[in-house]
Amino acid sequence: MKSIISKKVQQMQPSGIRVFFDLVLGMPDVISLGVGEPDFVTPWSIREAGIYSLEQGYTSYTSNKGLYRLRLEISRYLKKKYGLIYDAESQILITVGVSEAKDLALRSLLNPGDKVIVTDPAYVSYAPLVSLAGGLPISIVTTMKDKFKINPGKLDKLCHEQRPKIIILNYPSNPTGASYRKKELQALARVILKHKLIVISDEIYGDLTYDFQHSPFPTLEGTKKNTIYLNGFSKSYAMTGWRVGYACGSADIISAMTKIHQYTIMCVSITSQMAACEALVDGQKSVEEMKKEYIRRREFVYEGLNKMGLKCTKPDGAFYAFPSIKSTKLSSIKFASRLLKEKKVAVVPGTAFGASGEGYIRISYASNLDDLKEAFGRIECFVKKL
Ligand code: PLP
Repeated sequence: MKSIISKKVQQMQPSGIRVFFDLVLGMPDVISLGVGEPDFVTPWSIREAGIYSLEQGYTSYTSNKGLYRLRLEISRYLKKKYGLIYDAESQILITVGVSEAKDLALRSLLNPGDKVIVTDPAYVSYAPLVSLAGGLPISIVTTMKDKFKINPGKLDKLCHEQRPKIIILNYPSNPTGASYRKKELQALARVILKHKLIVISDEIYGDLTYDFQHSPFPTLEGTKKNTIYLNGFSKSYAMTGWRVGYACGSADIISAMTKIHQYTIMCVSITSQMAACEALVDGQKSVEEMKKEYIRRREFVYEGLNKMGLKCTKPDGAFYAFPSIKSTKLSSIKFASRLLKEKKVAVVPGTAFGASGEGYIRISYASNLDDLKEAFGRIECFVKKL
């Protein structure tokens, strides 16, 4: 029978993470190192700001672009932290997480058939969202040898061959934890400027960079005009359920994104926006505390994996490690499903993030150290017995 579902949606694959975690549901005693979500509760002062706003009766819609006060706080935060200047009135849009922001950016910019460079491996939603917006995702493979960073020479060659319009950057990266020092970004920027690419830069993990200062892409010379900078509150402030993110860019792009946003979403919940204001005004200490804990876990995970023979590069940021499981001779799916079945530890097969994720798994260290220790004991036992 002919399907009533659109061809585009029929062709879309369900998220590899979801498929795998449907298996986990209902299994008792599983330790999950699969979720990309902080194990912390949103800091109390932020929760309190949300509650207080409700007590005061703030229950209405806000401006489509978001509360002016929140846009102003974002503009102040970016200026103070990075010297990055965006006008709160015309260059900032509050969105339902970075998830909505990247969809709006793609739909605002893409004409049918336009090409978009996406790394492989990459966060699961980029390629499907490009296709849904009528574009064509083009993969650039990043390898363990290059510490999962985009090689500028490879990018230059790909741009000559494919003539893409956009590149999506994500650093620190989900799933690899890789990020870039300023010098490395400058080398990428030279290629990007040469080929006049528009950049959608997903920097949601920027505050969770561990060994060096994070540099937002639009701080690099010549890049600001054609970069859409995306950030949000989900990860660094442990606010995944509040659904607040933002996009910053030139007024014409933000105005185009606002057009779609006003018809589809109207505005982000006022309670969440008020809580997000508090996060920027008074949440930095909590971010630093959570960051310290992630650093402790990262050391444990990085050393533990390498010790048991699962070669792993040291993550620069975020809360993911992406070890190779090639030494076990198992495929990513087989490794993850046997580990789940035999040892009740859930990890994500690398192939959920693209074909080049074969031979890897993603481990999230957004779980407490006790759970990580127990899980690593089980993984080690599993690997030894193979
Ligand atoms: N971008 C990346 C790289 C992510 O890992 C995630 C969530 O895992 C998101 C965006 C979604 O963030 P949000 O909760 O702001 O929609």
